[in-house]
Amino acid sequence: MPDPTPTSSSPRGAEITPERPVLVLGGGPAGLTAGYLLANRGKPVIVLESSDQVGGIARTEVRDGYRFDLGGHRFFTKSKEVDELWHEIMKGEFLRRPRRSRIYWRRRFLEYPLQGMDVIKKLGPWELMLCMLSYLWAAVKPKGREENYEEWVSNRFGRRLFNHFFKAYTEKVWGVPTNEIRAEWAAQRIKGLSFFSAVKSAFLGNRGNQITSLIGEFNYPRFGPGQMWEKMTEDIRARGGEVRLNAPVTRMRVESGRVVEVVAGGETLTPSHVISSLPLRTTVGITEPEAPGRVRDAARGLRYRDFLTVLLVLRQKNIFPDNWIYIHEPDVRVGRIQNFRSWSPWMVPNDEDGSVGLEYFCFEGDDLWTMKDEELVELATGELVQIGLARPGMVKRGFVVRVHKAYPIYDAEYAERVATIRGWLETIANLQQVGRNGLHRYNNSDHSMLTAMRAVDNILLGADHDIWAVNAESVYHEEYVEPEQPYKKPPSPPAMEQPLASER
Ligand SMILES: Cc1cc2nc3c(=O)[nH]c(=O)nc-3n(C[C@H](O)[C@H](O)[C@H](O)COP(=O)(O)OP(=O)(O)OC[C@H]3O[C@@H](n4cnc5c(N)ncnc54)[C@H](O)[C@@H]3O)c2cc1C
Repeated sequence: MPDPTPTSSSPRGAEITPERPVLVLGGGPAGLTAGYLLANRGKPVIVLESSDQVGGIARTEVRDGYRFDLGGHRFFTKSKEVDELWHEIMKGEFLRRPRRSRIYWRRRFLEYPLQGMDVIKKLGPWELMLCMLSYLWAAVKPKGREENYEEWVSNRFGRRLFNHFFKAYTEKVWGVPTNEIRAEWAAQRIKGLSFFSAVKSAFLGNRGNQITSLIGEFNYPRFGPGQMWEKMTEDIRARGGEVRLNAPVTRMRVESGRVVEVVAGGETLTPSHVISSLPLRTTVGITEPEAPGRVRDAARGLRYRDFLTVLLVLRQKNIFPDNWIYIHEPDVRVGRIQNFRSWSPWMVPNDEDGSVGLEYFCFEGDDLWTMKDEELVELATGELVQIGLARPGMVKRGFVVRVHKAYPIYDAEYAERVATIRGWLETIANLQQVGRNGLHRYNNSDHSMLTAMRAVDNILLGADHDIWAVNAESVYHEEYVEPEQPYKKPPSPPAMEQPLASER
């Protein structure tokens, strides 16, 4: 079909030709979206991916036929455009899956979202009374100063509920003691939640599906999220575009305010336009001539929380019915456990085995990150048994996947650093940053993809979308999948209702 959009050069870049294709850096959800849309319009495009697999941090790992999702990726969006694109790609392969999740606490499993009668039953009358007394004590005699997260939450829920349901999980996710997290963070991120609103939602439920976390169903590709990215890659190639794997981008030469050369996998390419989903730190680091010192300093200062998942194959089909369980116990290090058969039965290659992913939040280089794979499998197996979810001998084998830069950190300086980098990026006319780490923004895959859609519009339609504004002023409840940021809020965070801080 002839392409109605102009191919002439735009203020952003040169004319798109086979000799000067659009270069897309990174083959995660954002990069592939750009590649897909450009290839659909018959534009020469090359997606350059450093690893041997597409999908980035939303990929599906396959080991001996067992498919593992890194973190459990629910497909839910309020963006019609993204939803339509997902369905266009997946067609009948997009399953509608029921959601079940619980909190593991003191050898008990509490339904999450909380259900009033379940809480009463699981806590028992004695513990309920102690929690109530502790709450009343905090209400009557609140701690005067609220300097940290611990004081802020304890004042509103009582010390006992804080200890049971806030402390351990928050510390696991962010690796910071709760008395070192600023109270301001709690005030921003747990906005709208009080003892009474938690009780109300536990008894009355999620009326009108207002809160994403409480939505009882979501979409999921039959073979895990990787199927979406693999299908997009196939489609890009079928339409004449390229997706190159094992092609790390190592250099980007800028002349007169334009990217004139990109070196990937040892080959030098000449772009008309560049759409980059590389972490901001990487984009700045590979540019030649070097970015100004203050920009390089800002980029080097950006921080990330990393993550690893231990994938265990089990001799039993279903050790629990949930999609995932939050582990609030402080005496085990695991933070969350995914049950892949519940996400989709097609994640397991036979009808006998089960498979789970034990998630450990960490920093690259710390003791967990550097532990040998066999030790991690042993640790995860031991913790699964300790929690009471498996018996010794039930684990057949295990694998470890380490995920770099899983969460961009919003620390006290990040906003200023991003602003400095952004100012410099704006001097390069044919370069657009997109995605999650590409914008150092806490984007889920829908918003990561939306930023790429906007970047493509800017090139093909001459639009002037501000990519940095995507998901900045949205009313989207992001809280549904990932850890909240104890460091600092994003520029314009969504209003948050966060039942007991456990849905991360
Ligand atoms: C634990 C966890 C759970 C999540 N759950 C959900 C969920 O339930 N629902 C949801 O919608 N989202 C979820 N997300 C978010 C989702 O994973 C991200 O929004 C999405 O993957 C971001 O896409 P991206 O393309 O911007 O970046 P990435 O996925 O990070 O992709 C970037 C790509 O660039 C490549 N790259 C890096 N450097 C180079 C280089 N020098 N040269 C070439 N290529 C390079 C990387 O290999 C990678 O493939 C979750 C994230 C995490 C960590």
